[in-house]
Amino acid sequence: EFDPGLKALADRQRLIEQDLDAAIRAGSVETWFQPQVDLETGAIAGFEALVRWHHPRLGFVSPPEIVAAAQSLHLAESLTAHVAAAVCRLLSRLPALGLAEVTVALNVSPREFALYSVADMLELVTSQHGINPARLEIEITEEAILDTEGAGYQLKRLENAGYKLAVDDFGMGHSSLAYLISLKVDRLKIDRSFAKGVAESRGNQDLIAALVGLGNALRLDIVVEGVETEQDAAVLEELGCRIAQGYHFARPMPVESLAAWIARRGEKNNARMAVA
Ligand code: C2E
Ligand code: MG
Ligand code: MG
Repeated sequence: EFDPGLKALADRQRLIEQDLDAAIRAGSVETWFQPQVDLETGAIAGFEALVRWHHPRLGFVSPPEIVAAAQSLHLAESLTAHVAAAVCRLLSRLPALGLAEVTVALNVSPREFALYSVADMLELVTSQHGINPARLEIEITEEAILDTEGAGYQLKRLENAGYKLAVDDFGMGHSSLAYLISLKVDRLKIDRSFAKGVAESRGNQDLIAALVGLGNALRLDIVVEGVETEQDAAVLEELGCRIAQGYHFARPMPVESLAAWIARRGEKNNARMAVA
């Protein structure tokens, strides 16, 4: 039977797949950055790279759609290398902006580890840009952690090369704690569904308190994602969260806007510290 909804979806996917390769090459697939902030001091703690593509006919194409298309076109490696290069360019600029110490995070989807050598690709890109791997954080989800056969060897290599490792969307999947410890993960990023409205949700407060306890016991940093309000930020700080990311602080932005945001943030924070 003819289903117009399905056809529209298939047409959309076809256009995305038809144009993605050229769009990556032309630079219209962009890398935006969302700041991470220290809840206690207000200092900038890092940035996460997020892929963005405004398609001339389809408008905004979501990151999961881009990633899925890249994988079916065998472009997963070029897409991630493209984002990794943007991360390295930002990392080269950060010392001049007074942020020589912060890390920049890059998302790698679980399937990618089976498609190509993420470790080889990152080694090439970071060495081309003269970037110390310790400045780069690789965000993987719990699925990648569980898939020990496909990803385990590469994750160990990344760890040995000095990259930071973060477990993204933590709490949504199933992680083996034993494996988290053996992998020397640096950070857990608590899924944004737990941070949303946390000020009003006793259940989420308990859950986050437990995750903070887990983080402390395993000596892992906890990052909370999706912090949208002042109230949520305050409650999260009280619960012992140190680093936060979310619309309340800043939305993802193109790198041209970032320098101005960093400067404004610095001024605001100096004023805050002067009052405190
Ligand atoms: P993620 O890695 O968990 O990234 C966080 C997502 O939450 C981003 O969505 C970000 O824009 C959004 N976000 C941040 N703060 C808030 C907030 O306060 N409220 C709400 N409602 N949302 C917030 P985005 O950019 O649409 O990316 C979605 C997912 O797509 C990412 O989730 C990540 O898994 C994937 N992704 C994005 N860029 C890449 C990439 O370059 N490579 C790969 N493999 N995956 C990517
Ligand atoms: Mg992420
Ligand atoms: Mg996440």
